[in-house]
Amino acid sequence: MTPRSVHTRLTLWYTGALLTILVVISVLSYSLLAWSLSQDLDRSLLTMAELVRDASRDEPLDVAEQWLRELLDPEHQLFQLLDPTGRLRLRSRGLRGDQLPLSATARRSIVEGRPGFETIAMHGQRLRVVTLPVRRDGRLLEVVQVGLPLRPTERTLQRWIEALAILVPLSVALAAAGGRLMARAALKPVDEMSQAARRIDAGALARRITVRGSGDELDRLAETLNGMLARLESTFTEMRRFSADAAHELRTPLTALKGTLEVALRADRSGPEYREALASALEEVDRLVRLSEDLLLLSRSSAGPESPAARVDLESLVLDVAAVGARLAKDGGVVVRVGATAPVSVQGDAGALRRAVLNLVENGVKYTPAGGRVEISVVEERHGIAIAVEDTGPGIDAADAERIFEPFVRLDAARARATGGSGLGLAIARSIVVAHRGTLSVERAATGGARFVIHLPAGTG
Ligand code: ADP
Repeated sequence: MTPRSVHTRLTLWYTGALLTILVVISVLSYSLLAWSLSQDLDRSLLTMAELVRDASRDEPLDVAEQWLRELLDPEHQLFQLLDPTGRLRLRSRGLRGDQLPLSATARRSIVEGRPGFETIAMHGQRLRVVTLPVRRDGRLLEVVQVGLPLRPTERTLQRWIEALAILVPLSVALAAAGGRLMARAALKPVDEMSQAARRIDAGALARRITVRGSGDELDRLAETLNGMLARLESTFTEMRRFSADAAHELRTPLTALKGTLEVALRADRSGPEYREALASALEEVDRLVRLSEDLLLLSRSSAGPESPAARVDLESLVLDVAAVGARLAKDGGVVVRVGATAPVSVQGDAGALRRAVLNLVENGVKYTPAGGRVEISVVEERHGIAIAVEDTGPGIDAADAERIFEPFVRLDAARARATGGSGLGLAIARSIVVAHRGTLSVERAATGGARFVIHLPAGTG
């Protein structure tokens, strides 16, 4: 089936419904008209029959006929009077010497003593006939029969059908044309919207669909689409920046590696010189490996938990991470210790959560000068669990508190390079926590250092 536009379909539905309604109304109106015309006719017949009865009772027959002839118009002069045996007493001229038949229906109504109606054919036309028995003191005196041609009634009905045959298609056609125009006008903004949406692609994500300001459903649709475009645009921008940053981060060690190897190859070198060049090259390769591992970790953690959620004992996780941190901190003269702990657990990925907390502890150790300390604690809160990693280092300005969680952001490039960080540690930690429906933020500790807090909802997983 060929696809039709919405406005064509709307018009078809609307026209179909209207046609059905009009057909039903036409059938009903025709039946009603036919019924009421036949009632009127029967009533007129009865009135005429009573007139004939009264005239024949009050006047001699020939006077009565004269009187009736003057009273009734020629078309209505179809009446006759019969005696109780069925013999003709008087007949109007309109019958042209013929006689209205005394049918079975007429006989039955005479026997039952009530007027009887029937439709007959006479002189090539259809007649409606009433048979009225006239009784006195329970005795049948005479029978009055009056006929009226059905043609006027049939003509009226015929005209009504002709009128309907013109009016119904005409109104359906007009309504269809009007409905089509209206549906078109109503759906025009949708067309415009889809054209505008078609013009928007990855290269022109800043474009927006016009909101007409009428506050209707279409405006709400345009706003929803614009909201979606804004989110897409920011994701695209983020992705672009991320790939540019990642390329840049990869290029630095690669350039250094290339330089080292080129210098080593430029002339004949002694064994120790080659060894030194190779050691330096290995350092850059190590940085590359670390960077690619971190990138992999980040992409995995943002894709959601890898292993199925299991119960993670956070107290032992914190103790374990503190032990690892203590080993890392030994050379830098920093103390890593465990503060308040509680026997709490959540549902989640133990390996990923351990990675997140360890990143925070590693940072604490890295950025805290000798003689300082890093403290990890885990406590139960009203709505969940909080893991805090606090240090006595330089701390983080409130202005940078959000920025540092973005990939490749390093506040102090020189210092960061010396510590060898990729700038991905906090981004990885946050995406792991977010995958566990938690939050990770930083604040200034009482000591002036940094205090990173992971909030996990109770029953996370
Ligand atoms: P990096 O690999 O550079 O450590 P991170 O994403 O872990 O990358 O950290 C981003 C930046 O945030 C760091 O370069 C550093 O400037 C700052 N930062 C992180 N942790 C701390 C901390 N405990 N104290 C001070 N600055 C920190």
